[in-house]
Amino acid sequence: MTLFIHNTLSRKKEAFEPLNPDHVGIYVCGPTVYDYAHIGNARPVVVFDVLTRLLRRFYPKVTYVRNITDIDDKINAASRETGEDIRSITDRTAKVYHDDMAALGALPPDVEPRATDHVAQMITMTEQLIETGNAYEAEGHVLFNVPSMPEYGRLSGHSRDELIAGARIDVAPYKKDPADFVLWKPSDADTPGWDSPWGRGRPGWHIECSAMSQEYLGTEFDIHGGGQDLIFPHHENELAQSRCANHSDRMAKYWMHNGYLMAEGEKMSKSLGNFYTVHDLLDEFPGEAIRLALLQTHYRQPMDFTKDGIADARRTLDKWHRIAGDVTAAGEDMPQDLIDALSDDLNTPKAIAELHRLAGKGTDNARRALKAGANFMGLMGETADDWFKWSPATASDVDEAAIDALITERNDARANKDFTRADEIRDQLTAQGIVLEDAAGGTTWKRG
Ligand SMILES: [Zn+2]
Repeated sequence: MTLFIHNTLSRKKEAFEPLNPDHVGIYVCGPTVYDYAHIGNARPVVVFDVLTRLLRRFYPKVTYVRNITDIDDKINAASRETGEDIRSITDRTAKVYHDDMAALGALPPDVEPRATDHVAQMITMTEQLIETGNAYEAEGHVLFNVPSMPEYGRLSGHSRDELIAGARIDVAPYKKDPADFVLWKPSDADTPGWDSPWGRGRPGWHIECSAMSQEYLGTEFDIHGGGQDLIFPHHENELAQSRCANHSDRMAKYWMHNGYLMAEGEKMSKSLGNFYTVHDLLDEFPGEAIRLALLQTHYRQPMDFTKDGIADARRTLDKWHRIAGDVTAAGEDMPQDLIDALSDDLNTPKAIAELHRLAGKGTDNARRALKAGANFMGLMGETADDWFKWSPATASDVDEAAIDALITERNDARANKDFTRADEIRDQLTAQGIVLEDAAGGTTWKRG
């Protein structure tokens, strides 16, 4: 059995040949923890979770590293805006992230390094890059000098002009070349900072991943993954830093990227109302329905994520649970066609089609194979009983006595022709997912 994966570096589907078949290493860029993950952030988590499950089937040991970026100017800005302590923001957000990704059936990574715990390694790597002549200090900053690396741009395929245009040039006067990027920058008294040979400051984002991947996977490792939006500049810069600091021909042997995600046919935006956080979606839908909706599009394709799509995925899981009932699956029940589909560059749509085919067969063997295959993909993890008991998270939190009290208050308000108050109460309950039904016999409520 050969696993094929698309390598962004070669722009081809390649047979996966690990550097060391006894121990496969994979690094995926993790969240910057200042606000809740949106559904676009969840796509790589679910995709690389499936890949890791597959790698574990083929290789005796897999180390999956996914970092937490807890040093970032967006975090500093959030703290300034709200007055909340930085550590409190990052701890709180990381906790929600863990809960949300677990609800999507994503297994935790083996190592989850935090940037704040690896600043010493970032400083060391920055020093190495100065020594190799790939970086220079200027006005308290340390910059990577892009022209010092002839192969810079190979991963993204960007031309020199695109590199400069893409560098989001603030035309800092201390840059030798407009494409040069920051490895280290100075911190003022109100900004988190660490002592360094260049004064008190903080690392740039790109060097964080170079230092953390090397710490846990070594200077060269098998797979580096992330969303397509990270290819440039983030991954291009990680690659340049790691290769130059280590005098190495490569960082990761394979680079894998998932496609863009839109929601309801448009780029997600808070003003369009299609900015879906995983946290909010989990109030409306079971996590596995969201997971199945994400896996229905091949990871390299752009995806249009819709609430109708989640509802469809939920109905599919309802159906599979009704068919599989309480069968238990063993190792030998695993459908080989599903493994073959996933081994072909993670062809999840084909794997899901195989589950549909098994669901339609109606034999005991097929029911067990359905369950085994679904479980392998992180689906049907609960008993059918528990699956059908799911209710929206907001509904399970509601206090029934409080609802009854509000309904009584609303009836009184209506009797007194205080319709403003009556409407307020209805809106308040609607916001909690409670739908009121007024009938001749009185008002009843149900979970919306
Ligand atoms: Zn990264």
